[in-house]
Amino acid sequence: MADELSNRGKPGGSPCEPGASPARAGRPIIVQKYGGSSVADVDRIGKVADRVVAAKRAGNDVVVVVSAMGKTTDGLLALARQVAGAGGAGGAASDPPRRELDMLLSTGERVSMALLSIAIQARGFEAISFTGSQSGILTNDRHFDARIIEVRPFRIEDELARGRIVIVAGYQGMSYRREITTLGRGGSDTTAVALAAALRAERCEIYSDVDGVYSADPRVVPDARHLPELDCAVLQEMAECGAKVVCAQAVEWARRSGVALYARSTFDAGPGARETVVRRFASGTAPPTIAARAIVAEGNVVLARVPGGHRLDALLRAAGELGVSFRDLSFGPGGGAFVLPLLNVPDWQGAKRQLTALAPSLELVEGLASVSVVGDGLTATAEPLARFLDVLERSGVVPRFTVAGPLRLGALVDAADAADVAAAQRQLHAAFVEG
Ligand code: ADP
Ligand code: ASP
Ligand code: MG
Repeated sequence: MADELSNRGKPGGSPCEPGASPARAGRPIIVQKYGGSSVADVDRIGKVADRVVAAKRAGNDVVVVVSAMGKTTDGLLALARQVAGAGGAGGAASDPPRRELDMLLSTGERVSMALLSIAIQARGFEAISFTGSQSGILTNDRHFDARIIEVRPFRIEDELARGRIVIVAGYQGMSYRREITTLGRGGSDTTAVALAAALRAERCEIYSDVDGVYSADPRVVPDARHLPELDCAVLQEMAECGAKVVCAQAVEWARRSGVALYARSTFDAGPGARETVVRRFASGTAPPTIAARAIVAEGNVVLARVPGGHRLDALLRAAGELGVSFRDLSFGPGGGAFVLPLLNVPDWQGAKRQLTALAPSLELVEGLASVSVVGDGLTATAEPLARFLDVLERSGVVPRFTVAGPLRLGALVDAADAADVAAAQRQLHAAFVEG
């Protein structure tokens, strides 16, 4: 593995200063990412191979990032939980260790990368698959939710120069300690955008089972509207609060590096097909009006409350060290509160024990979901917040915690009644997007 890190060329940079690659003469580079549903079975892998070959035939150098097949990652995670639960000391279930989860989960994407490479070679094209570490994806050392800090895509560039199609296992990298890491759920998107930035690709195409980004999850809100164009800042806010169509870290990379994202459907593509183009618009070009763009929701969040007289920094630092991130923090002499999203916290039971040992007065309200309106200028007047609260009241969900900022109005509500949370999304959509 050492040669994968050899210092040929200048080390790649942060999201602000992407990539080490010297500009390549000749063919444009296109990065395509196919998600789990796009490679769920042999038939679909064949169709993806056809699409990749078509992009190569059109005169591009093609790098393809793949996710694990179908729900493989969920299956592996369930397996790990079963094994950890079975061995819990004194019968108590224990959390599976994050390092071993990364070793396990990273195998899902290795299966699909090899199968896609085989399928492409069977079509008479040269292809080669690489793991995240072979692709030069270097991360920090936080397991299960690592951040990419550098990309050194030398092996990919060499293979592209040989005329090969390169297939990369998404969602994974290697830390400076040479440990295998994964990038948080949905992280193959991040691999694709980070590689597109480092390779100075012409664009990054994200293929999934929807033909772009909608004004709400179309599975929950049937009247959701297709959004043909979107600003990175709005999509990042949507993704951070539950719209899983593109992962938040990926949008952050796109925003910082200027990579243009095209979200498309894998199987409804072709001339005339819809897509969402996501770009970083220069500040000042956004419309100055109050505009709600989308409704998003996320399950599995926790509300943390602390009484007055506490500085929260030590607690938040401890949470960070346990791999638990926070958002929507406020505190003052009367007390403080913040929100903990648990999507990328596989070991919450252990983390909870440690946090409450550190701050016994910490109150943790579990079993919540968050529902948000995302847009621009949402606090320019008090009207959007008033409408938000009215709609929630009419839908029968009681906000336990509410936040308001220019880009987002959000509320934490009881997740126990999923039907109410879904109804609230539909009513918010009718009031803010359709209205
Ligand atoms: P992949 O496995 O290809 O990465 P994901 O399942 O992560 O795909 O993301 C696609 C899914 O995101 C869609 O099936 C859709 O239900 C969901 N989704 C949630 N919010 C939105 C939204 N605002 N626009 C489009 N899709 C959304
Ligand atoms: N397979 C991983 C997941 O399910 C990564 C991805 O799909 O992007 O989260
Ligand atoms: Mg995804």
